[in-house]
Amino acid sequence: MALMIAIYGKGGIGKSTITTNIAVAFSQQGKKVLQIGCDPKHDSTFPLTHKMIPTVVEVLKQHRFHYEEIALEEIIHVGYAHVSAMEIGGPPAGVGCGGYAIGDTIQLLEKAGTYEQYDIILFDILGDVVCGGFSVPLQYAKYVCIVCTNDFDSLFAANRIISAISEKSTTYPVRLCGLIGNRCSDTSLIEKVCNSVQCNTISTINDSNEIRNARASGQTLFELAANDNALTHLCEPFLRIADYMLSDPECSSCVPLTDRDLFTLLMEHV
Ligand code: ADP
Ligand code: MG
Repeated sequence: MALMIAIYGKGGIGKSTITTNIAVAFSQQGKKVLQIGCDPKHDSTFPLTHKMIPTVVEVLKQHRFHYEEIALEEIIHVGYAHVSAMEIGGPPAGVGCGGYAIGDTIQLLEKAGTYEQYDIILFDILGDVVCGGFSVPLQYAKYVCIVCTNDFDSLFAANRIISAISEKSTTYPVRLCGLIGNRCSDTSLIEKVCNSVQCNTISTINDSNEIRNARASGQTLFELAANDNALTHLCEPFLRIADYMLSDPECSSCVPLTDRDLFTLLMEHV
Protein backbone atom coordinates (compact mmCIF):
# COMPACT_ATOMS: atom_id res chain seq x y z
CA MET A 1 0.00 0.00 0.00
CA ALA A 2 1.40 3.38 -1.01
CA LEU A 3 2.32 5.99 1.56
CA MET A 4 -0.19 8.73 0.76
CA ILE A 5 0.71 12.34 1.41
CA ALA A 6 -1.63 15.29 0.86
CA ILE A 7 -0.13 18.72 0.20
CA TYR A 8 -2.62 21.49 0.97
CA GLY A 9 -2.34 25.29 1.00
CA LYS A 10 -3.96 28.42 -0.35
CA GLY A 11 -3.97 29.14 -4.09
CA GLY A 12 -0.69 30.40 -5.54
CA ILE A 13 1.35 29.61 -2.42
CA GLY A 14 3.65 27.11 -4.18
CA LYS A 15 1.96 23.70 -3.62
CA SER A 16 2.44 22.39 -7.14
CA THR A 17 6.01 23.67 -7.40
CA ILE A 18 6.89 22.00 -4.12
CA THR A 19 4.92 18.79 -4.81
CA THR A 20 6.55 18.16 -8.20
CA ASN A 21 10.02 18.64 -6.71
CA ILE A 22 9.26 16.37 -3.74
CA ALA A 23 7.92 13.79 -6.22
CA VAL A 24 11.26 13.77 -8.06
CA ALA A 25 13.12 13.64 -4.72
CA PHE A 26 11.19 10.47 -3.77
CA SER A 27 11.84 8.99 -7.18
CA GLN A 28 15.57 9.63 -6.82
CA GLN A 29 15.40 7.63 -3.62
CA GLY A 30 14.12 4.64 -5.60
CA LYS A 31 10.42 5.07 -4.90
CA LYS A 32 7.63 4.56 -7.43
CA VAL A 33 5.67 7.80 -7.29
CA LEU A 34 2.26 9.02 -8.48
CA GLN A 35 1.34 12.71 -8.22
CA ILE A 36 -2.38 13.52 -8.38
CA GLY A 37 -3.27 17.13 -9.17
CA CYS A 38 -6.53 17.90 -7.36
CA ASP A 39 -6.80 21.56 -8.32
CA PRO A 40 -9.44 22.43 -10.96
CA LYS A 41 -6.70 24.69 -12.42
CA HIS A 42 -5.07 21.36 -13.57
CA ASP A 43 -1.55 22.84 -13.63
CA SER A 44 -0.07 20.62 -10.92
CA THR A 45 1.97 18.17 -12.96
CA PHE A 46 3.17 19.96 -16.13
CA PRO A 47 6.73 20.37 -14.77
CA LEU A 48 6.87 16.54 -14.75
CA THR A 49 5.20 15.84 -18.09
CA HIS A 50 6.23 19.06 -19.92
CA LYS A 51 2.66 19.52 -21.12
CA MET A 52 -0.88 19.85 -19.80
CA ILE A 53 -2.10 16.25 -19.79
CA PRO A 54 -5.79 15.35 -20.38
CA THR A 55 -7.69 15.60 -17.11
CA VAL A 56 -9.91 12.90 -15.64
CA VAL A 57 -12.90 15.20 -16.18
CA GLU A 58 -12.01 15.61 -19.88
CA VAL A 59 -11.50 11.87 -20.40
CA LEU A 60 -14.70 11.16 -18.50
CA LYS A 61 -16.60 13.43 -20.85
CA GLN A 62 -15.27 11.42 -23.83
CA HIS A 63 -16.67 8.30 -22.14
CA ARG A 64 -20.06 9.97 -21.60
CA PHE A 65 -19.37 10.11 -17.84
CA HIS A 66 -18.99 6.33 -17.39
CA TYR A 67 -16.12 6.02 -14.91
CA GLU A 68 -15.97 2.23 -15.44
CA GLU A 69 -14.95 2.74 -19.10
CA ILE A 70 -11.81 4.75 -18.29
CA ALA A 71 -8.46 2.98 -18.75
CA LEU A 72 -5.73 4.12 -16.35
CA GLU A 73 -3.37 4.76 -19.31
CA GLU A 74 -5.75 7.51 -20.43
CA ILE A 75 -5.32 9.47 -17.22
CA ILE A 76 -1.89 8.47 -15.84
CA HIS A 77 1.10 9.82 -17.77
CA VAL A 78 4.73 9.09 -16.96
CA GLY A 79 6.93 12.16 -16.63
CA TYR A 80 10.42 13.25 -15.60
CA ALA A 81 12.33 10.81 -13.35
CA HIS A 82 9.62 8.18 -14.07
CA VAL A 83 7.13 9.98 -11.84
CA SER A 84 3.54 9.15 -12.85
CA ALA A 85 1.22 12.11 -13.07
CA MET A 86 -2.51 12.70 -13.29
CA GLU A 87 -4.79 15.72 -13.19
CA ILE A 88 -8.35 15.42 -11.96
CA GLY A 89 -9.39 18.75 -13.44
CA GLY A 90 -12.72 20.40 -12.90
CA PRO A 91 -15.74 21.92 -14.59
CA PRO A 92 -15.38 24.92 -16.95
CA ALA A 93 -14.72 28.21 -15.11
CA GLY A 94 -17.91 29.63 -13.64
CA VAL A 95 -19.89 26.38 -13.80
CA GLY A 96 -20.47 23.50 -11.37
CA CYS A 97 -18.52 22.38 -8.29
CA GLY A 98 -14.71 22.31 -8.33
CA GLY A 99 -14.31 19.38 -5.96
CA TYR A 100 -16.95 16.96 -7.20
CA ALA A 101 -14.63 14.83 -9.34
CA ILE A 102 -12.02 14.30 -6.62
CA GLY A 103 -14.02 11.80 -4.54
CA ASP A 104 -15.12 9.81 -7.60
CA THR A 105 -11.59 9.66 -9.02
CA ILE A 106 -10.07 8.55 -5.74
CA GLN A 107 -12.60 5.71 -5.57
CA LEU A 108 -11.91 4.79 -9.20
CA LEU A 109 -8.19 4.47 -8.41
CA GLU A 110 -8.93 2.42 -5.31
CA LYS A 111 -11.11 -0.03 -7.29
CA ALA A 112 -8.40 -0.33 -9.97
CA GLY A 113 -5.83 -1.31 -7.30
CA THR A 114 -3.71 1.76 -8.07
CA TYR A 115 -2.78 2.34 -4.43
CA GLU A 116 -0.95 -1.01 -4.34
CA GLN A 117 1.10 -0.18 -7.44
CA TYR A 118 3.00 2.81 -6.00
CA ASP A 119 5.28 3.44 -3.03
CA ILE A 120 4.27 7.08 -2.71
CA ILE A 121 1.12 8.93 -3.79
CA LEU A 122 1.12 12.72 -3.53
CA PHE A 123 -2.16 14.65 -3.66
CA ASP A 124 -1.73 18.33 -4.59
CA ILE A 125 -4.88 20.07 -3.36
CA LEU A 126 -6.18 23.59 -3.31
CA GLY A 127 -6.96 24.46 0.30
CA ASP A 128 -8.74 27.82 0.19
CA VAL A 129 -11.96 25.91 0.85
CA VAL A 130 -11.77 22.44 2.39
CA CYS A 131 -15.36 21.44 1.65
CA GLY A 132 -16.79 18.22 0.18
CA GLY A 133 -14.56 16.85 -2.57
CA PHE A 134 -11.49 18.83 -1.55
CA SER A 135 -11.45 17.05 1.82
CA VAL A 136 -11.77 13.48 0.43
CA PRO A 137 -7.96 12.96 0.20
CA LEU A 138 -7.92 13.36 4.00
CA GLN A 139 -9.76 10.03 4.18
CA TYR A 140 -6.85 8.29 2.43
CA ALA A 141 -3.68 10.22 3.29
CA LYS A 142 -1.48 9.26 6.22
CA TYR A 143 0.24 12.63 6.33
CA VAL A 144 -0.76 16.18 5.43
CA CYS A 145 1.78 18.94 4.77
CA ILE A 146 0.48 22.49 4.50
CA VAL A 147 2.35 25.02 2.36
CA CYS A 148 2.19 28.58 3.69
CA THR A 149 4.28 31.71 3.87
CA ASN A 150 4.91 34.17 6.69
CA ASP A 151 1.64 36.07 6.19
CA PHE A 152 -1.87 36.31 7.53
CA ASP A 153 -3.79 34.90 4.57
CA SER A 154 -1.82 31.70 4.02
CA LEU A 155 -1.81 30.98 7.75
CA PHE A 156 -5.54 31.69 7.96
CA ALA A 157 -6.04 29.11 5.17
CA ALA A 158 -3.62 26.73 6.95
CA ASN A 159 -5.64 26.93 10.16
CA ARG A 160 -8.85 26.08 8.30
CA ILE A 161 -7.11 23.08 6.72
CA ILE A 162 -5.97 22.05 10.21
CA SER A 163 -9.62 22.23 11.34
CA ALA A 164 -10.55 19.85 8.52
CA ILE A 165 -7.71 17.45 9.45
CA SER A 166 -8.73 17.59 13.09
CA GLU A 167 -12.31 16.72 12.14
CA LYS A 168 -11.32 13.87 9.78
CA SER A 169 -8.78 12.44 12.24
CA THR A 170 -11.62 11.39 14.53
CA THR A 171 -12.63 8.81 11.88
CA TYR A 172 -9.53 8.32 9.69
CA PRO A 173 -5.81 7.81 10.51
CA VAL A 174 -4.79 11.14 8.86
CA ARG A 175 -2.29 13.33 10.75
CA LEU A 176 -0.83 16.80 10.17
CA CYS A 177 2.88 16.30 9.51
CA GLY A 178 3.57 20.03 9.62
CA LEU A 179 3.86 23.29 7.72
CA ILE A 180 6.25 24.03 4.84
CA GLY A 181 7.18 27.71 4.76
CA ASN A 182 7.65 28.88 1.18
CA ARG A 183 9.23 32.10 -0.10
CA CYS A 184 10.08 33.39 3.35
CA SER A 185 13.23 34.15 5.32
CA ASP A 186 11.31 35.53 8.33
CA THR A 187 9.24 32.70 9.83
CA SER A 188 8.06 34.42 13.00
CA LEU A 189 4.32 34.22 12.22
CA ILE A 190 4.60 30.62 11.06
CA GLU A 191 6.36 29.69 14.32
CA LYS A 192 3.69 31.43 16.33
CA VAL A 193 0.93 29.45 14.62
CA CYS A 194 2.92 26.18 14.92
CA ASN A 195 3.30 26.71 18.67
CA SER A 196 -0.40 27.43 19.09
CA VAL A 197 -1.71 24.53 17.02
CA GLN A 198 1.06 22.18 18.21
CA CYS A 199 2.76 21.22 14.98
CA ASN A 200 6.19 21.52 13.34
CA THR A 201 7.68 23.50 10.50
CA ILE A 202 8.97 20.73 8.24
CA SER A 203 11.08 22.99 6.04
CA THR A 204 11.50 26.55 4.84
CA ILE A 205 12.14 27.26 1.17
CA ASN A 206 13.51 30.61 0.05
CA ASP A 207 12.13 32.76 -2.71
CA SER A 208 14.31 31.89 -5.68
CA ASN A 209 14.49 32.98 -9.31
CA GLU A 210 15.63 29.49 -10.25
CA ILE A 211 12.46 27.93 -8.75
CA ARG A 212 10.36 30.52 -10.60
CA ASN A 213 12.27 29.93 -13.85
CA ALA A 214 12.05 26.15 -13.58
CA ARG A 215 8.27 26.31 -13.20
CA ALA A 216 7.90 28.90 -15.96
CA SER A 217 9.91 26.68 -18.31
CA GLY A 218 7.74 23.67 -17.42
CA GLN A 219 10.39 21.74 -15.52
CA THR A 220 11.21 20.74 -11.97
CA LEU A 221 14.24 22.26 -10.31
CA PHE A 222 15.84 18.79 -10.43
CA GLU A 223 15.65 18.72 -14.23
CA LEU A 224 17.12 22.20 -14.48
CA ALA A 225 19.86 21.24 -12.00
CA ALA A 226 20.67 18.08 -13.97
CA ASN A 227 22.16 20.39 -16.60
CA ASP A 228 23.64 22.96 -14.22
CA ASN A 229 25.64 21.83 -11.17
CA ALA A 230 25.42 25.31 -9.65
CA LEU A 231 21.70 24.62 -8.97
CA THR A 232 22.16 21.28 -7.19
CA HIS A 233 22.10 22.83 -3.70
CA LEU A 234 18.60 24.24 -4.39
CA CYS A 235 17.26 20.67 -4.62
CA GLU A 236 18.46 19.80 -1.12
CA PRO A 237 15.41 21.05 0.84
CA PHE A 238 13.17 18.82 -1.29
CA LEU A 239 15.40 15.78 -0.73
CA ARG A 240 15.32 16.50 3.01
CA ILE A 241 11.51 16.76 3.02
CA ALA A 242 11.28 13.40 1.20
CA ASP A 243 13.73 11.84 3.72
CA TYR A 244 11.70 13.22 6.58
CA MET A 245 8.44 11.83 5.21
CA LEU A 246 10.08 8.41 4.84
CA SER A 247 11.39 8.45 8.42
CA ASP A 248 7.97 7.62 9.94
CA PRO A 249 7.74 11.07 11.53
CA GLU A 250 5.86 11.47 14.76
CA CYS A 251 2.77 13.64 14.34
CA SER A 252 0.85 14.67 17.41
CA SER A 253 -2.82 15.62 17.19
CA CYS A 254 -3.13 19.22 16.06
CA VAL A 255 -5.42 21.71 17.76
CA PRO A 256 -6.94 24.26 15.35
CA LEU A 257 -7.59 27.80 16.50
CA THR A 258 -10.92 29.47 15.93
CA ASP A 259 -10.79 32.06 13.12
CA ARG A 260 -11.08 34.83 15.72
CA ASP A 261 -8.32 33.43 17.94
CA LEU A 262 -6.01 33.16 14.94
CA PHE A 263 -6.84 36.74 14.00
CA THR A 264 -5.99 37.91 17.52
CA LEU A 265 -2.79 35.83 17.62
CA LEU A 266 -1.46 37.29 14.38
CA MET A 267 -2.58 40.83 15.18
CA GLU A 268 -0.74 40.74 18.52
CA HIS A 269 2.39 40.32 16.47
CA VAL A 270 2.13 43.71 14.76
P1 ADP B 1 -0.04 26.69 -6.17
O1 ADP B 1 0.12 25.31 -6.70
O2 ADP B 1 -0.07 26.71 -4.67
O3 ADP B 1 -1.23 27.42 -6.74
P2 ADP B 1 2.37 27.24 -7.67
O4 ADP B 1 3.25 26.10 -7.25
O5 ADP B 1 1.70 27.12 -8.99
O6 ADP B 1 1.25 27.53 -6.56
O7 ADP B 1 3.24 28.56 -7.56
C1 ADP B 1 2.73 29.81 -7.91
C2 ADP B 1 3.85 30.65 -8.51
O8 ADP B 1 4.82 30.93 -7.51
C3 ADP B 1 4.57 29.94 -9.65
O9 ADP B 1 4.78 30.87 -10.67
C4 ADP B 1 5.90 29.50 -9.04
O10 ADP B 1 6.94 29.56 -9.96
C5 ADP B 1 6.12 30.56 -7.97
N1 ADP B 1 6.89 30.03 -6.82
C6 ADP B 1 6.52 29.04 -5.98
N2 ADP B 1 7.48 28.84 -5.04
C7 ADP B 1 8.47 29.71 -5.30
C8 ADP B 1 9.74 30.01 -4.69
N3 ADP B 1 10.17 29.36 -3.61
N4 ADP B 1 10.50 30.99 -5.26
C9 ADP B 1 10.06 31.67 -6.34
N5 ADP B 1 8.90 31.44 -6.96
C10 ADP B 1 8.10 30.48 -6.45
MG1 MG C 1 -1.12 24.31 -7.99
